Amino acid sequence: MEFIADFHLHSKYSRATSRNMDLENLDKWARIKGIKVLTVGDFTHPEWFKTLKEKLEPAESGLYKLKYSGSPTRFILTTEISCIYSKKGKVRKIHIVVFAPSLEVVDKINAHLGWIGNLKADGRPMLGLDAKELAKTVLGVSEECLVIPAHCMTPWFGIFGSKSGFDSIEECFEDYSKYIFALETGLSANPAMIWRIPDGRKTILISNSDAHSPAHIGREANVFDTEISYSAITEAIKSKNPQKFLYTIEFFPQEGKYHYDGHRDCGISLSPAESKKYNNICPNCGRPLTIGVLNRIDSLADKEEGFQPENVIPYKSLVPLAEIIADTLGITVGTKQVDEEYKNLIKKFDNEFNVLIEAPKSELEKATLPEIAEGITRVREGKVKVEPGYDGVYGKIRIFSKEEIKTPFRQGTLF
Ligand SMILES: [Zn+2]
Ligand SMILES: [Zn+2]
Ligand SMILES: [Zn+2]
Repeated sequence: MEFIADFHLHSKYSRATSRNMDLENLDKWARIKGIKVLTVGDFTHPEWFKTLKEKLEPAESGLYKLKYSGSPTRFILTTEISCIYSKKGKVRKIHIVVFAPSLEVVDKINAHLGWIGNLKADGRPMLGLDAKELAKTVLGVSEECLVIPAHCMTPWFGIFGSKSGFDSIEECFEDYSKYIFALETGLSANPAMIWRIPDGRKTILISNSDAHSPAHIGREANVFDTEISYSAITEAIKSKNPQKFLYTIEFFPQEGKYHYDGHRDCGISLSPAESKKYNNICPNCGRPLTIGVLNRIDSLADKEEGFQPENVIPYKSLVPLAEIIADTLGITVGTKQVDEEYKNLIKKFDNEFNVLIEAPKSELEKATLPEIAEGITRVREGKVKVEPGYDGVYGKIRIFSKEEIKTPFRQGTLF
């Protein structure tokens, strides 16, 4: 059965998250988005873990569902841990996603990690723990666990990040490298970029939303064609089998917060070539620039841009539906018209991924304004312009040019 999965998000117990990040809303939004298998996130947090034990019941092997609900949503158990430690004379800050096959295994992992740091302080706990030691601990509890470096390229907290990362999986995980089957792309990088570095081809690339609010779940995701169970999913990842792991769903990487280099306080955004000209120093204030993902890939790559390796899982670049509607109407996400049109399309096509990926243009044209149907089609064809994100500032998607939005014809049809 073909289905969509998202393995990384944060509950209401993580910092800077929506208070709506509870199981009921995750379940509801998984159905709106068209996600079959969704992580609960933050399983190390004692309060959240208690809620999971109370409200979930076993479904297919290694997966869970909400008790007393006929919902098709299946929950998988993953969490993110922030490892902060020093190695070879440098401070390292690495985020790691851990998969676990059951609540019993989670219980044991939490007991081990609870000795090392305060799991209550944050849904994504900060531990003074070497990432390699984390792998050793987790895999020591159960070999069915997966250990996957999160948003592998981001400057802070990516395993390959420019600020506090490493140059290779080997340098970070040493003899545990053979257990690192996958890397998470993160929003600011896509598979084509990461295939240029050796570890990006050795491993498999997965994509997740890292959502902090319900409406963002599935903004990046993974599409499988397997039996629905924990072991079928993790085997599809480990075996890198394109018959079972069909493709990933990606942001246009320029839309991510760390695609370009720059300095947010000064509003300075630079391409890698421009940063080089300025010796990686902000031309406005003289402080060091935050070196983004594109630049960092250039320095680790052994292949040219556009290199297409064999035996990789393909991907599709998408833009969230609310953003497409907003750009088409020339207004912002969160406004009433965008919400209404979003709801209209979900009602007609069941879920967001059906609208973005499956629905034929002719059907979309019958269901919504022709301009919105055109916007969705342009995204599918990759015909978008993006102002790249930098130093924590999201990039901006432009599907229609300013001239197109201003034409009186469009204004007439839209309002
Ligand atoms: Zn993270
Ligand atoms: Zn996260
Ligand atoms: Zn500056």
